[in-house]
Amino acid sequence: MDKPIIIAIDGFSSSGKSTMARRLASTIGYRYIDSGAMYRAVTLFALEANYIDADGNIDKEALTAALPHIHIDFEPQADGSQHTLLNGVDVENEIRRLRVSNAVSQIAAVPEVRHALVAMQKKLGEARGIVMDGRDIGSVVFPDAELKIYVDASAETRARRRFKEMIEKGSQVSYEDVLANVVHRDHIDTTRAESPLRRADDAIAIDNSDMSIEEQDAWLLDQFNRVMSK
Ligand code: C5P
Repeated sequence: MDKPIIIAIDGFSSSGKSTMARRLASTIGYRYIDSGAMYRAVTLFALEANYIDADGNIDKEALTAALPHIHIDFEPQADGSQHTLLNGVDVENEIRRLRVSNAVSQIAAVPEVRHALVAMQKKLGEARGIVMDGRDIGSVVFPDAELKIYVDASAETRARRRFKEMIEKGSQVSYEDVLANVVHRDHIDTTRAESPLRRADDAIAIDNSDMSIEEQDAWLLDQFNRVMSK
């Protein structure tokens, strides 16, 4: 392969796919896009605009009308990470809180939200040389991606990782609440009508429950090199 490729990494929440994707992008000098952060940013917008009531009902009409006014950007940081901007404001910490996690799958199931974000994601891929992670990247956003990975790990492993991450960031959460959120989101993400999470037929599956980050990195880099050597 003599041109930069598109790499799609899909999987359940907290499967470690973002870590894999981010680290690969930095190693090979590609752009990394966290599509989940885009759904989280729209969710934060909806929460702040009171488009979601206490029972979790969404005012879909108001949200759909607001979509053209929701601008999402990514700002590279000095340490190589990037922060999500919602209408120019850095919301990186806000969007990782449980308040957003608890509502994001309902927002991501709204077809108009998906259409708007998928269009933005396709645009981001036009320049190629991109690693994007999410749920439907290999199946819907980039069905022609040259490398597609599907990451899996048990719900307990994923909840343990997310719990550790949140405690380290200073959140006051219980492991049980995090596990309940992971299981709940898995259910919504796999059963929604509009582009549910599924493994694309040509995606390579990996279960990383018992892999270290270094082992994951090496495995993924091998997959990349294999495609590039064709
Ligand atoms: O990846 P992350 O867990 O941050 O994603 C948050 C939520 O956004 C997921 O639970 C899912 O509902 C939604 N999502 C999606 N499609 C994507 C990325 C994320 O539906 N491509």
